[in-house]
Amino acid sequence: MKVLVTGGAGYIGSHTVLALLQQDHQVVVFDNLCNASEVPLARIEAMTGKHIEFFRGDIRDVAALDAVFGAHQFDAVIHFAALKAVGESTQKPLAYYQTNVHGSVCLLEAMQRHQVTDFIFSSSATVYGELAIVPYLESMPLGSPSSPYGATKVMVERIMADYAAANPEFRGVSLRYFNPIGAHESGNLGEDPKGIPNNLLPYLAQVAVGRRTHLSVFGGDYPTQDGTCLRDYLHVMDLAEGHTAALNWLADHPQQRGIEAFNLGTGQGVSVLDIIAAFEQASGVPVPYEIAPRRAGDLAAFWANADKASTMLGWQAKRNLTQMMHDTWRWQSQNPSGYSEE
Ligand code: NAD
Ligand code: UDP
Repeated sequence: MKVLVTGGAGYIGSHTVLALLQQDHQVVVFDNLCNASEVPLARIEAMTGKHIEFFRGDIRDVAALDAVFGAHQFDAVIHFAALKAVGESTQKPLAYYQTNVHGSVCLLEAMQRHQVTDFIFSSSATVYGELAIVPYLESMPLGSPSSPYGATKVMVERIMADYAAANPEFRGVSLRYFNPIGAHESGNLGEDPKGIPNNLLPYLAQVAVGRRTHLSVFGGDYPTQDGTCLRDYLHVMDLAEGHTAALNWLADHPQQRGIEAFNLGTGQGVSVLDIIAAFEQASGVPVPYEIAPRRAGDLAAFWANADKASTMLGWQAKRNLTQMMHDTWRWQSQNPSGYSEE
C-alpha cells in the first residue's frame, strides 16, 4: 500500500515509517520539522535500502496538502503531526487547537477532495479524562481531559465520528496510545526532544548520560504501592507495529465503515520508581533522583485494557520493560546529543 505519514519525521512517526517499509509498504512523509529533523529519515533509508519521499510542509497549508495528494494516489493516511507538550498546551492553547484540530480538519478535507478514505489517527489515553476507572476500555465514553492538548484529541475523535456519519465511505481508526518509550533496537532511531524533556524516559536518559544532574520524581505520596504514579509504558516498536496492524486490518476488511478506537498498551501499570530501577539495572548506570512535588494535572494511575486490539487487530505488545530500558539506553548512549550532531 502507499501511505501518507504526517509527522513521519517525529518520534513515533519515524519508528512507524520503518515498520511500514519493513512490511513493503510505500511511504511518503509530510512534516514541517517543527519538532524533528530529516536525519531519522536518512537513517531509515540507510537501514532499509528503501527510498522515502519527503515533503516539507504544514498540515494547515491547503496548497501543500494538495501538492502531495496530487502527486500520489494514497491508500491510507497515518496522522501523527501535532503539538504534544501537555504543559505547553496550557500556556499556548490556541496554537494547540490551531495545529491539532484545525490541522486535522485541513487534512481530512484534503483526503475528501482527493478521495482517500482510510485514516489512522494518533489519539491518546488522555481522552478517557480524569474520572475514568482503570483499566481503560474503548467502550467508556470520551471524558474531559484537564489540558488543552487532551481536549484536542477528544475533539478530533468527535470530528472523525461526525465526518464518518456524514460520509459513508470514511474508514477511521483512532489508536489511543498509553506511554510509548524506548527506541529501535539498532540504536539508530529514538526520541530526541528539543529543549528540556517533559516526559519521564527522555529526562531520565539525559540524566544517565550526564546532560542533566538528577531526575525529579513528581510526587511520592500518591495512593500507589510506592507512592509514585503508575503508567502503562509500551515499547515504541510495539506501538509502530500497532499502526501496521491497523492498516492491514482496514485492508483485510473492505466492508468496514465508520470509526473504530483501539487502546495500544500492555495492560500493566508500572511506577516511576520501578522505571528508575529497571533502567539502572539495564544500563548499569545509577540515576540520581529526588522526590519533588506533584506535577499539576497528573493522574495517580492508569493503564489499558488492550483486549480489543488483540482480538480484532491481532496486536499485542511483545517487548518487556527490560527491553524498553536496554533500547532507551542504547539509543541515548550512542546518540548523547540526539540527532543534532549530524
Ligand atoms: P513528535 O513531536 O516527535 O512528532 C510529531 C511530528 O509532527 C514532528 O515531526 C513535527 O515536526 C510534526 N508536526 C508538528 N506540527 C506539524 C504541522 N503543523 N505540520 C506538519 N508537521 C507537523 O511527537 P510523537 O511523540 O512522535 O507524537 C506523534 C503523535 O502521537 C502526536 O499526534 C501525539 O499527540 C501523539 N501521542 C504521543 C504520545 C507520546 O507519549 N509521545 C502519546 C499519545 C499520543
Ligand atoms: N515524571 C517524573 N519526572 C519527570 C517526568 C515525568 O516523575 O521528569 C512522571 C510523571 O509525573 C508521570 C510519569 O512520570 O507520573 C510519566 O510522565 P510522562 O510525562 O512521561 O507521561 P504522561 O503519563 O504524563 O503522559
